[in-house]
Amino acid sequence: MDTGLRTSGIALLSLAVLASSGCATQPTPRQTPPAVAAEAAAVPPESGKAFVPPTSLHWFRVSAERRALFAQAYRQATARLPGVDSQEGPWAVVVDADETVLDNMAYQERLARGLPPYEKWSQENWNAWVKEEKALAFPEAVAFLNEVRLRGGLIAIVSNRSETTCKETGSNLVKQKVPYDALLCAKLVNPNSGVDGSVDTNKEPRFQWVHSGEAFKRPTPIRLAVFVGDNIKDCPGQSQTSFTADKFGTECIVLPNPVYGSWDTRPYVPSEGTP
Ligand SMILES: [Mg+2]
Repeated sequence: MDTGLRTSGIALLSLAVLASSGCATQPTPRQTPPAVAAEAAAVPPESGKAFVPPTSLHWFRVSAERRALFAQAYRQATARLPGVDSQEGPWAVVVDADETVLDNMAYQERLARGLPPYEKWSQENWNAWVKEEKALAFPEAVAFLNEVRLRGGLIAIVSNRSETTCKETGSNLVKQKVPYDALLCAKLVNPNSGVDGSVDTNKEPRFQWVHSGEAFKRPTPIRLAVFVGDNIKDCPGQSQTSFTADKFGTECIVLPNPVYGSWDTRPYVPSEGTP
């Protein structure tokens, strides 16, 4: 993918526009979001027994470091925005939804507690959570997106939530006062199978859809000021095995997520010096 970002007269994102029908899709078997590991035994809240969360969930929920990293990341993202008086034409930002704008740690806690039907992650219990529309918005994300609006930018939320739950996702965002102009969910890989369990998690065609302007029903390409997400693949052209460090803190801003991600299926590599 040919990318080049700019803000306020610096570098512009210039993505080759692909016809949506010609975009290759790369469905992956694992959907968003994978489960927190069942590190804690099932503990009903009413049992009186202390719930011991997985370290990753504990960190995400309570650490000052997590809040600081979100503040830091969204400050960096804001620095990429054109000024309010920019004359450079229409522009947009592209943000992920889960663990970027919406906080799903309540769902992850259900998994960690392990009570039915949350013994482990499934597309069904994930979709059920999404349809509750109870995810909270991260205040740092809302402030950033309001600033985008203030400066005249467009907002695309590109999510790997299933298109079958896109309506509820939009409703959840509205309830949380998250501004957006386009919400692009993941299409079912086999919509005729009758099984809502497999979606196309490749975001690249949707990034192109945003850049082309079509996602906003605009006739001309839109400059993309910055991408924000908690997964390496929320940044164009990036993956666990193809990673370009200088894209980060510039074109792309990455948020911390030690709970789940495309990293968690990678084989562990022991530290040097491990007996
Ligand atoms: Mg995410």
